[in-house]
Amino acid sequence: MSESNNENTAWERVVALYRASLSSPEEIKRMELHFPQFRSHSLVGTEFRIGVMEDLQKEWFTKLYAKPLESVMAKAGVGDGISVVFTVEKPDVTAKPRHVDLPEPEHKTVSAETRPHTLQSTLPLHENYLFENFVRGPSNSFAYAAAIAVAKGLGKNAYNPLFIWGSTGLGKTHLMEAIGHYVLDNNPKLSVCYITSETFLNEYLNAMASSVLPSFRSRYRKYDLLLLDDVQFLVGKKQFQEEFFNTFSQLMIFDKQVVMTCDVSPKELGLEERLISRFQQGMVVEIESPSLETRIAILKSKMQARHRIIPDEILNFIAENIKSHVRAIEGALSRVVTFMDVNPDMPLNVDIAQHLLKDMIEDEVTIRNITPDSIIQATAEHYGVTVEDIKAPGRTQSLVTPRQVAMFIACKVTTDSLQTIGKAFDRKHTTVFYGSQQIQKRLTVEPDLKQSIMQISAKLGRKISDVLE
Ligand code: ADP
Ligand code: MG
Repeated sequence: MSESNNENTAWERVVALYRASLSSPEEIKRMELHFPQFRSHSLVGTEFRIGVMEDLQKEWFTKLYAKPLESVMAKAGVGDGISVVFTVEKPDVTAKPRHVDLPEPEHKTVSAETRPHTLQSTLPLHENYLFENFVRGPSNSFAYAAAIAVAKGLGKNAYNPLFIWGSTGLGKTHLMEAIGHYVLDNNPKLSVCYITSETFLNEYLNAMASSVLPSFRSRYRKYDLLLLDDVQFLVGKKQFQEEFFNTFSQLMIFDKQVVMTCDVSPKELGLEERLISRFQQGMVVEIESPSLETRIAILKSKMQARHRIIPDEILNFIAENIKSHVRAIEGALSRVVTFMDVNPDMPLNVDIAQHLLKDMIEDEVTIRNITPDSIIQATAEHYGVTVEDIKAPGRTQSLVTPRQVAMFIACKVTTDSLQTIGKAFDRKHTTVFYGSQQIQKRLTVEPDLKQSIMQISAKLGRKISDVLE
């Protein structure tokens, strides 16, 4: 009894310490939603086991909480070198496991009825993400036209679902939210839901834990317009894909509009075949990197929005040097504007701009110079193998990790298609996708692997956070 009490207090300290380490209200909110879903916790040797209800929770909670909880174990007095392991417990198991079971955490006694409603429903739309503020150019005009058509003819046109894909920072979320704004402005009676796939998954888990799946389902099936952002998040989550497929099919049956964004094309997503073919029944549009003219037009429009005037030569300088994505272009502009605010008397010239944006320009140059081949080279060096080893056919066990690590980095940092990356490895695009996924999975449980990837990335001159996020 006293032993259990001690351990219970230790768990409470773990929770308190972890909570104290969080800085954003979102993280605290997320923890408050998730922790009550832990069914048990126990210390077995140096393993701190947390029981959850099913595989999806195990996978997701491991990713979110295993490492952070491990880092507070010593301080909480649980012990040194403790690893946190999530295990799936069958709900109908009544027999006590052999190891000492810790008493349930206090907050776990909140019953499903008294627990506040965990569904967050729709996220707010960003107020500037309007069609009016979206600059059109050859790189995005097709996507723009499709978005307008969807907004104007909600549910009645052939563009259902609309699937917008393209690399990060190119305006997918902007365009998607513009549809939401347009619909609400023109018909406030219609119900619109904007949600990221990550939030959607979280809500699904919460609904499952508090046995309110039916209300979760009916809720999502009543919207006239469902905007689901970043569906690449669904990859590898089989059970959730099933849920999504059902929700999605239901909405389609009732002619409700669905819009999705994704950072790869539906084919490259590696989702179930039937999901992909459903997506392709609608409209699939790609947004590409903007041309120089479009970049200049975007800069001009952002300046107008800020009521600022910046010399043309500076605008051209930014547009010529920052090409990768629109978010980076906005970042560069902000820096220049801040400089002007702080130094109102200093005339801005290209030399100053060059200096101000030095690191951003360098980043751009390294991004462009990183190719699948240079990644294979750096990875091979890191692991002490040769480039030929990595490209070799066959599955020699010792080469699997280096090969898959190189695939993972190539997928993360280059804008090349899986097909192109596959060519560099002499492999099919599905092999690249699978390899990259394997590493993604292992990353949550293998700190050494993360370390290796950081070192290889550093070699490539790339900020690590970009690679891992
Ligand atoms: P994504 O969702 O593709 O990662 P976002 O929609 O978040 O990209 O866009 C990144 C930033 O760039 C946003 O501030 C957005 O307003 C801006 N942006 C992207 N494309 C355009 C465009 N064509 N016109 C105006 N702003 C754009
Ligand atoms: Mg986005």
